[in-house]
Amino acid sequence: MLKYLDNADDEQEPEQEEGSAAGLPEIDNEALLSPVTEADNDEFAVDLGDDVDELAGLEIGAEDDHVAMLKQKIGGMEQRISYLERIVKVSQMLNSTLSLEPLLQIIVQAATELTGTEACSIMLIDKNTGELRFAEATGGVTNDLMKISVPLDDSIGGFVIRRKRPLLIRDVQDDPRWHGETMDFETRSILGVPLNVRDSVIGVLEVINKSDDSGFSEDDVQIATTLGAQAAIAIENARLLDELQQAYRDLAEVDQIKNDFVSVASHELRTPLAVILGYATFLKDNVQGEAGEQLEIVLNSAVKLRSLIDDMVNLRHIQTNEIQPERTMFSLKQLITDITKEFSEIIASKQLLLSSRFMPDDSPLNIDADRQKIYLVIANLVNNAIKFTREGGRIHINVELKDHKYWINVIDTGIGIPPVERERIFDQFYQVEPPLTRKYQGMGLGLSITKGMVEIHRGRIWVESVVGKGSNFAVVLPTAPDVQDL
Ligand code: ADP
Repeated sequence: MLKYLDNADDEQEPEQEEGSAAGLPEIDNEALLSPVTEADNDEFAVDLGDDVDELAGLEIGAEDDHVAMLKQKIGGMEQRISYLERIVKVSQMLNSTLSLEPLLQIIVQAATELTGTEACSIMLIDKNTGELRFAEATGGVTNDLMKISVPLDDSIGGFVIRRKRPLLIRDVQDDPRWHGETMDFETRSILGVPLNVRDSVIGVLEVINKSDDSGFSEDDVQIATTLGAQAAIAIENARLLDELQQAYRDLAEVDQIKNDFVSVASHELRTPLAVILGYATFLKDNVQGEAGEQLEIVLNSAVKLRSLIDDMVNLRHIQTNEIQPERTMFSLKQLITDITKEFSEIIASKQLLLSSRFMPDDSPLNIDADRQKIYLVIANLVNNAIKFTREGGRIHINVELKDHKYWINVIDTGIGIPPVERERIFDQFYQVEPPLTRKYQGMGLGLSITKGMVEIHRGRIWVESVVGKGSNFAVVLPTAPDVQDL
């Protein structure tokens, strides 16, 4: 009896037999499970060393039975090589697809062929009920099989899973753990192996009825175990892929809900805000003294609110690809001069030093682009540079024309950005400081909008920075839409 054989009535102390079945050499299970390289595939590294020496040492007239024994050994090895070849092919096939159904079909087919059995099935533990359900079987999972759920207690599959080791039963009909899982034909013998994923067992692979009724061998156990290990990995990968795809679907759904909310909210907020802005402007022009100052505060707050709503609308347009540049020819130099003028008051109040340099300096630096959007890009960068630079710091804007592209740099001597954050600051709503304790105002939308606006012009944006020293935001824009890709 093989060491895996486990009779129900002899469950506590399974009878064990030393060595392997019928003179077959041991298979190195490690080798079966180890990854196969191309070189392995071309030529199997089966060590024939001793036998070759023995063959070479044979003298003419050596005993016939010695030759016969060697021939038998070689025959066994050849068979093993062909198993290995088949297992390698199975792993190659398994590596070529991630979809679970064909993978399990391949494993079931290979298991029946290589163990010389009539059928094979793979049962997995149902996470909800804790019972075993058919995932694949020879001939497919029929409606009848689908209905079957096998308890872990007192079943052959459950026994394999609980013990985490193979189980071989020569005559199932006499075994109380047999639940008649394979309904369509008479089951005589079963070999079950656990499907292990790391430390846990997720199911069981069973091969049923040795075709020639010779009984299962040690080789069969090892082949089934190897294929079971492949099945377990394939199932785990497919499950992970499923979970990932589901997570993406959930994310897309949440994103859609957010987009719809932003769309409705911005629309609903815009109308009353326009009324507030209209009345506040009218009243401010018509009242004097303290009331006028208070109205100025109301007006400024309303303008800030409008700019936040504009950000939300812009972001939604970028995300839904509803935005296209409305191109005109304009001077980049003039645009930057306008922006610096707009920020001059706050720059002065923070005692910042703002400088700019244009190359070539005698050109208007014309660009064929959407003026409003490019204005937003540079204004956002300058606004951030002002916001994140302490009083007395410096900001420099550099514009250079090179190979029909404008290289624009907005450089500050501010707080800087840690390396890990440099990609993420371009994500929507992302801010380096935690939102609840942050010192700086903003919603974390400016840079994602800026990036979107740059990209619809087929440009690029990135940042270089040293924490505590400052940041350099670089934008490259084509001078016209027909300029080759950047
Ligand atoms: P907001 O400024 O409204 O928070 P942004 O999308 O414009 O949103 O910027 C995202 C984050 O990137 C900021 O919260 C800040 O942490 C960081 N950041 C942007 N510009 C600078 C800069 N010039 N210096 C330092 N940090 C910056």
